[in-house]
Amino acid sequence: MRKALIAGNWKMNKTDPEAIELARALVAEVGQYEACDILLCPPFTSLKSVGDVIRGSKIKLGAQTMHWEKSGAFTGMVCADMLKSLGCTYVIIGHSEQRQFFGETDETVNKRTRAALANGLTPIVCVGEFLEQRESGKHEQIVRDQVIQGLKGLTSDEMKQVAIAYEPVWAIGTGKTASSQDADDMHACIRSTIEKVWNRDVAQGLVIQYGGSVKPDTIDEQMAMPNIDGALVGGAALQADSFARIVRFQ
Ligand code: PEP
Repeated sequence: MRKALIAGNWKMNKTDPEAIELARALVAEVGQYEACDILLCPPFTSLKSVGDVIRGSKIKLGAQTMHWEKSGAFTGMVCADMLKSLGCTYVIIGHSEQRQFFGETDETVNKRTRAALANGLTPIVCVGEFLEQRESGKHEQIVRDQVIQGLKGLTSDEMKQVAIAYEPVWAIGTGKTASSQDADDMHACIRSTIEKVWNRDVAQGLVIQYGGSVKPDTIDEQMAMPNIDGALVGGAALQADSFARIVRFQ
């Protein structure tokens, strides 16, 4: 049985006082909720303070990216040890905004994923197609390639520590969400790809989140699909009441 993972990706939002306020509200609303795993991914600047607020609750902490090197001259970047020292247990890797604006490729996704795993962090590896790719019927091939290249070389044991987020780029921050059936079809395609490259055990245990304009009024239908194991939530994670409702999906 896969335990659902509901994650809030706060992106480049929330000053530190605002982040603390949101984290406090979430601890009050869902801090002891155990029906799913709950993860907050604030910006780097608030990892410490959000980590302090959620300590003692069931809510987990993650970062939005990391570098694959251990330390060194990489201005602007952070490494796994830094994240772990603040209590992070997860890191989002290969988000489409990193791919679009910061030169992320499947190769750098692979390096970051390996480094995260080597340091005991759970990577949430993001994949997803552009609208033109879906319209031309290439979406499954595109996503399959992202999965295979991004996770290349991982052992079955390592794969058991990985989560995947399927986020069609055209659905992120646009208010358009993939139909639950389209999302589930893609999740099934990802799962069968994982089964072919690794094995059935890995594929059946893999948590695959959906992301792309998830809202309180979409989550129940999405989570009822057999291959959707959680959500990576952007906009709706910025308010405590909407994120708490998503966490309490029915
Ligand atoms: C995201 O940040 O990964 C995301 C899916 O954003 P939104 O929910 O705003 O579409």
